Amino acid sequence: MKKMQFEQAKEDEWPQCPYCHKEIRQIKFKTRGFFTSTAAYWCPHCKAILGLSSTFNG
Ligand SMILES: [Zn+2]
Repeated sequence: MKKMQFEQAKEDEWPQCPYCHKEIRQIKFKTRGFFTSTAAYWCPHCKAILGLSSTFNG
């Protein structure tokens, strides 16, 4: 398997929302929980959920 390559994005390069296809320059998120934190990240334009993550605060 080929090794994955990382390349630094240019100043004017931004990720695109897969739902509304607008550039995402800011991701909104909220966290909740005490023993574990569940975070939700969403697009600021169409509010589509882009990802969820769970972290154990131990
Ligand atoms: Zn969007």
